[in-house]
Amino acid sequence: MNADIEYDIAIIGGGLAGLTLAIQCADAGYSVVLFEKEKYPFHKVCGEYISNESKPFLTRLGIPIPEWNLPAISQLLITDNYGQAYPFTLDLGGFGISRFRLDNALYQLALQKKVLIYSGTKVLNVVYENNYFMIEATNGNFSAKVTVGSFGKRSNFDIQWKRILSSSENNKAETKFIGVKYHIRYPFPSHQIALHNFKNGYCGISMVEDNKCCLCYLTTTDNLRRSGNRINVMEEDILFQNPFLKKIFTEAEFLYTSPQVIAEVSFAPKTQVHNRVLMVGDAAGLITPLCGNGMSMALHASILAFNVIDMFLQEKINRNEMEHLYSKLWQHHFKRRLWVGRQVQSLMGSQWLTSATLKVLHMLPTLTKKVIASTHGQPF
Ligand SMILES: Cc1cc2nc3c(=O)[nH]c(=O)nc-3n(C[C@H](O)[C@H](O)[C@H](O)COP(=O)(O)OP(=O)(O)OC[C@H]3O[C@@H](n4cnc5c(N)ncnc54)[C@H](O)[C@@H]3O)c2cc1C
Repeated sequence: MNADIEYDIAIIGGGLAGLTLAIQCADAGYSVVLFEKEKYPFHKVCGEYISNESKPFLTRLGIPIPEWNLPAISQLLITDNYGQAYPFTLDLGGFGISRFRLDNALYQLALQKKVLIYSGTKVLNVVYENNYFMIEATNGNFSAKVTVGSFGKRSNFDIQWKRILSSSENNKAETKFIGVKYHIRYPFPSHQIALHNFKNGYCGISMVEDNKCCLCYLTTTDNLRRSGNRINVMEEDILFQNPFLKKIFTEAEFLYTSPQVIAEVSFAPKTQVHNRVLMVGDAAGLITPLCGNGMSMALHASILAFNVIDMFLQEKINRNEMEHLYSKLWQHHFKRRLWVGRQVQSLMGSQWLTSATLKVLHMLPTLTKKVIASTHGQPF
């Protein structure tokens, strides 16, 4: 691979982690190239409930969240597979915004900050040699001093680099999931997020901008297979057993012709540095979506990555120190949250276990607050 222009930082993947990292690096005066395989603006599978943890950071970066009058969410309603409902309070709370809008706003901001963005461009390979990275993308070859993988929960690199750890301890986490998302019109309280359980899965609903609701669920690949790989059959046969879901699915106006779908999602632990590439966001580890703070974690990880990259490029630390420090910081902030998220999700699969768990949590509000808090961080 030959490349003429050398960048300080190359970023693979322009979701929340990649775009916010690019903006921070550009603000600090570094040359940044970012590759995103899709063309902005675009929809993404996500529950679109974003924890208030990240509000100060987004606002500082230049995204005027308070001015956008987004739905403020402070109540959680969980139903079990039979439709028994349990209300909970979300102490920290969050807000609803579509990824179509948020990612596009960050993309526009990154362009203003002079980040070079190649959208509709996939990175195919990255090689580290003689202190530099050579990046092979569909539009040519590039070189950079630092490369960051912010390619999300599922990418060609996970397969190419065999990144997902496998051990008997993680067998449960290695179950493969699919995520499905719709935007719908449905009369739903703007201060609430509901999580409706069904056999081997759960479905969230909450408001985003423009009076739209995001309806998004996660279930096992096996559930889909058992329904002949047909999403509508699975919804009618399995999701509709929860009366709340049957009502939503039969009464709502669906705004897309077909849903957004992501397959082969895994919650198994990943490495935070691989082939000398720093991983941020879901590429470093994906928290189970029922915790509702994967987006905040992706944003927070971009700050950790920026700080160590900045020290490296200023020659305050060497490459080994940068990698070591980043892994350490990442583990310190997120390892336990991911673990708790996996434990909570494992209680939500079977019908009787979900009901029993919810009954106990409802009777013990202090414990519930602790569980919710242990999957979240402090505002940053
Ligand atoms: C079903 C489901 C529901 C969820 N709901 C919520 C929720 O309500 N709240 C919450 O906080 N979190 C939620 N999450 C988690 C949240 O979506 C993620 O944590 C967040 O999107 C992570 O951001 P990211 O930047 O790491 O990845 P992404 O936003 O996925 O961005 C990665 C980008 O990389 C691009 N890419 C991949 N490979 C390449 C390549 N080779 N070259 C170029 N580009 C590439 C992709 O196109 C993508 O745009 C949910 C997750 C799932 C699965």
